[in-house]
Amino acid sequence: MEEAKGANPTRKLKIFIVEDEQRIGRFLEIELQHEGYETAREIDGKQALERIRTEKFDLILLDLMLPGLDGMDVCRGVREFSDVPIIMLTARDEIEDRVNGLDIGADDYITKPFAIQELMARIRNALRKHTAREAQPGEDDKLFIMDLVMYPKTYEVKVAGQEVQLTRREYDLLAYLLANKRLVLTRDQILQEVWGYDYAGDTNVVDVYIRYLRSKIDDVFKKKYIHTVRGVGYVIRE
Ligand code: CA
Repeated sequence: MEEAKGANPTRKLKIFIVEDEQRIGRFLEIELQHEGYETAREIDGKQALERIRTEKFDLILLDLMLPGLDGMDVCRGVREFSDVPIIMLTARDEIEDRVNGLDIGADDYITKPFAIQELMARIRNALRKHTAREAQPGEDDKLFIMDLVMYPKTYEVKVAGQEVQLTRREYDLLAYLLANKRLVLTRDQILQEVWGYDYAGDTNVVDVYIRYLRSKIDDVFKKKYIHTVRGVGYVIRE
């Protein structure tokens, strides 16, 4: 499958850079424009949230520590009204922070300092995933195992008719497991497909998210859906 390109012959994709360090903001602006994106910049979190409400952006690069309103609150605020892809930028790199960043609705997380090529890859990945979600498959494309059903068109997940609330990453992970039901998936495969790149060999995040899914599905409905295959990975099956 061909990767989405930054440059588009009909309309340039617009990336909103929310970063209070002028040096980094300017650097990102130059690099993104060089890649064919249109850009806009903002340094204040509160202002940024207002602009996202009123302007059309295709993706948001969101610094964590900002004046006005911090990145976490901006992200949370945006998710109340928009599905626009968000990549958080931060100086911290603990896995807890990474997970928190994603749990509040960010699509991805990158720690500073980062290689610009890695950021570009993540931007393309987030845009591609967003486009795939927007494609809106029909009802026939629902995914299921036993009484667990996922409706990609509406992002609904139900177990025995009861709705389950998942974060975006949990949803993507469950969708990947269901699309490959009864197949054992390695942690590396899951990382590659769900996160879209290699977390430098750090597959802990996969275990963390499997745990989240189990706590919301297996534990609540007292049934085993997600199975661990020791030394290999995970499988969803009857
Ligand atoms: Ca900052």
